[in-house]
Amino acid sequence: MKIAVFPGSFDPITIGHVDLIRRALPLFDKVIIAVGVNSTKKNLFPLEQRLEWLRQVSVIFPNVEVDYFEKLTAHYCLRIGAQYLLRGLRNGSDFDYEKTISQLNHIVGNGIETVFLISQPEYSHISSTIVREIIVGGGDPTPFIPVEVAQTFQSALQARDRND
Ligand code: ADP
Repeated sequence: MKIAVFPGSFDPITIGHVDLIRRALPLFDKVIIAVGVNSTKKNLFPLEQRLEWLRQVSVIFPNVEVDYFEKLTAHYCLRIGAQYLLRGLRNGSDFDYEKTISQLNHIVGNGIETVFLISQPEYSHISSTIVREIIVGGGDPTPFIPVEVAQTFQSALQARDRND
């Protein structure tokens, strides 16, 4: 069984991520969207909220699961028996960054292969970073995010502010 892990922060999931998942489905028996929990990284949305959105968005896809992991992505893959990593490439800087990481993961992960999909032109300008900047700046992020996120990001933000 070909299992791929799609790792990321998904803070929040964008329509660029969704397109990548949709295009990866025919290549693997199972795709696991996995949020990498990094305690040093400052997120806009809490882990539980990001997982909830991933679950909601992926219900329409067969053979997609949602999970999270701490520490090394390659060790997580070994633990769950995934032989592939899935990553998206939007531009040259994505490539430069991803090249080194995939070479390291190949060693640390005992031969794990990273499969890259080039983003479609209509999604290559979309990133979670840009979406967060629009949200924090009070703009409208809805052209870049799935409807499930659009419906709830404001209340998620208010809940977050109350907990600060
Ligand atoms: P990370 O914090 O690991 O960069 P992200 O959640 O930002 O995680 O992204 C996860 C993966 O999704 C990365 O491989 C990234 O290149 C890919 N990705 C993000 N946005 C897009 C997009 N618009 N089109 C294609 N791939 C994308």
